Amino acid sequence: MRFQDQVVVVTGASRGIGKSLAAAFAAEGARVACVATTEAGASATASELGGGAKGYACDVSSSESVEALFTAVMTDMGTPSVLVNNAGITKDTLMLRMKDEDWDRVIDVNLKGTFNCIRAVAKSMMKARYGRIVNITSVVGLHGAAGQVNYSASKAGLLGITMSVAKELGSRGITCNAVAPGFIDSDMTEALPQEFKDYVIKQAPAGRLGTPEDISPAVLFLASSEAAYMTGQCLTVDGGLFL
Ligand code: NAP
Repeated sequence: MRFQDQVVVVTGASRGIGKSLAAAFAAEGARVACVATTEAGASATASELGGGAKGYACDVSSSESVEALFTAVMTDMGTPSVLVNNAGITKDTLMLRMKDEDWDRVIDVNLKGTFNCIRAVAKSMMKARYGRIVNITSVVGLHGAAGQVNYSASKAGLLGITMSVAKELGSRGITCNAVAPGFIDSDMTEALPQEFKDYVIKQAPAGRLGTPEDISPAVLFLASSEAAYMTGQCLTVDGGLFL
């Protein structure tokens, strides 16, 4: 019960990796603020979890929406000790065909959304002199991928945010780390061609795609008090795909 009575904010908690993270935190005693774009999606996860979890609708790409989210979380639940920036989208296409709006939306949600949430929670964590921030990046941010120039730029940018925030807030007892999942079975990867999935399964020493549940142990470790001397780092959880 590493998170007993702690307030943990998980963005993108309605589905996939975020939903699984919310459940893992709740199982270790956390009161989880589950964030998604719709009230229905956020509240559905919160009601499945119980244990003081609450659902919040928010578009992380909007600083106004994020400010309103953290004001509500502080009022309803108290100061968050953990923030997991997991909300993310893809708009894949080859670079030469990529429209301005495909670039802008992915950067706005994945990169600016993470910045918006960290900036909104930082003051309260600084006051508490304790905080754990975990950003969900991707192996694509470390290695690139054809057809994902927008997504890989957003995920590589998260590594810059992670290191800079670690340096800015480290003296206040706040750590900021990243987790880079490989290819995880979720709505996001559902549309990938079967040949690509077969390639990943063949290539990864683990011999399978990841599951959302494969990601939570790394995130919960970085979010725990045990990880106090680890900051600005990125843990890859990809079944060995990029060895
Ligand atoms: P997913 O199943 O598509 O779920 C995405 C989540 O993000 C949903 O809860 C969605 O909420 C939320 N979201 C999207 N736009 C948002 C916005 N503007 N504001 C707030 N929430 C928003 O994705 P996933 O596969 O679980 O991925 C989760 C994270 O892991 C993402 O950051 C992704 O880039 C990263 N990742 C995934 C993989 C993979 O293979 N799946 C690999 C590496 C990294 P709604 O339900 O309301 O739309």
